[in-house]
Amino acid sequence: MSSGDFNAFEMAQAQFDKVAELLNLDNGTREVLRIPLREYHFSIPVHMDDGTTEVFRGFRVQHNDAKGPCKGGIRFHPQETVDTVRALSMWMTWKCAVVNIPLGGGKGGVICDPHNLSMNEQQQICRGYVRQMAKNVGPINDVPAPDVMTSAQHMLWMLDEYEVIHGSKNPGFITGKPVGMGGSLGRKEATGYGVIYTVREALKELKIDPKDTTASFQGFGNVAQHAIELYTQLGGKVICVSSWDQEDQTSYSFKRETGVDLPELLTITNKFGGIDKAKAKELGYEILPGDEWLVQEVDILVPAALENQIRGDNAEKISPKVKLIAEGANGPTAPEADAIIEKKGIFLVPDFLANAGGVTCSYFEQVQSNMNYFWEKDDVLNRLDLKMTSAFLAVSELAKKKNLYMRDAAYVIAIQRVAQACKDRGWV
Ligand code: GLU
Repeated sequence: MSSGDFNAFEMAQAQFDKVAELLNLDNGTREVLRIPLREYHFSIPVHMDDGTTEVFRGFRVQHNDAKGPCKGGIRFHPQETVDTVRALSMWMTWKCAVVNIPLGGGKGGVICDPHNLSMNEQQQICRGYVRQMAKNVGPINDVPAPDVMTSAQHMLWMLDEYEVIHGSKNPGFITGKPVGMGGSLGRKEATGYGVIYTVREALKELKIDPKDTTASFQGFGNVAQHAIELYTQLGGKVICVSSWDQEDQTSYSFKRETGVDLPELLTITNKFGGIDKAKAKELGYEILPGDEWLVQEVDILVPAALENQIRGDNAEKISPKVKLIAEGANGPTAPEADAIIEKKGIFLVPDFLANAGGVTCSYFEQVQSNMNYFWEKDDVLNRLDLKMTSAFLAVSELAKKKNLYMRDAAYVIAIQRVAQACKDRGWV
């Protein structure tokens, strides 16, 4: 979300410009890639439960579709802005390209706070969103998915509205659907597990045994929860997680030196990932300010919440013990912080590589939906591991060979692929 002077789109463009320069990209290609191809802004009127009508603002941005239909989530957030959606759509283009799946980049958002909306009101937002966009999204042009504060249930309402409008069954229109209703086994776990597949590979490269590591996480939503699950299975110990507190409108860090017990912590967590402070205290957690997760003496940091969390003003406070940062969120690190992380010699797995497991599994879901034949969970997760691991290895090899920062190496691979697709189509 944008806060203060922060603008996610300017940040995404700055990251792109740096690598476009490095690649000596021609001006036409730069112009095509640094702004979205298309965007839609619209209103969604909703009959609220109390009898009033409220109008919500929605966006869908299609950044690039040279490599295939646009792909990307729709998020519900009170601080959503069109520039945030533009940035996220651009990052989706690079994300699909870096894992080499035949999809482009898109993103959607609605300015709303699901904490304060009934399920009926949320359903109307979902249906209203699809009514506004039904002609411009679909299995062969733009495929939505869940993101911050949207779930499988929201996807199913959107699918239902789309199918009613089109008068046919189109399960490939949207991904992240419930299992049994066109969803893929493993999709819920995919983003978090994908983060940890890259952590596992990065640790191999650093010659560190996961069993000897500790980690601190920002956020306790779907991505963080599944990342913690797999990281713990590998033998790692999470000592701190932060989570948003809706009542106090701030976040807190929950620290326990003996380690987080995931199933136990989940029993005191709401569906938005909010942890109950009083109950956490009873379970032996220290309740610290929200930004404390970043300064813990751990080996691994995993920002898995929102954008602009590691910045010029706090990156210096990262402990010298930290060896690896794996970005579960989109855009958590500002460019000024990148310079500090690079200087500190911390190994970075950048966002659009680290969190590409979600969209990779969405691609598998689309394939399964379109064939109407569904794979076993192990099959899905093995394919996911393979895709994530080979993408990681390609980026880290290039980083070593050309002595590049990992974010820049990932950008080089992604931008080259998309630029080539634009060229091959005769656009530039
Ligand atoms: N919203 C997720 C992301 O940012 C998943 C997108 C998708 O599955 O299309 O990567």
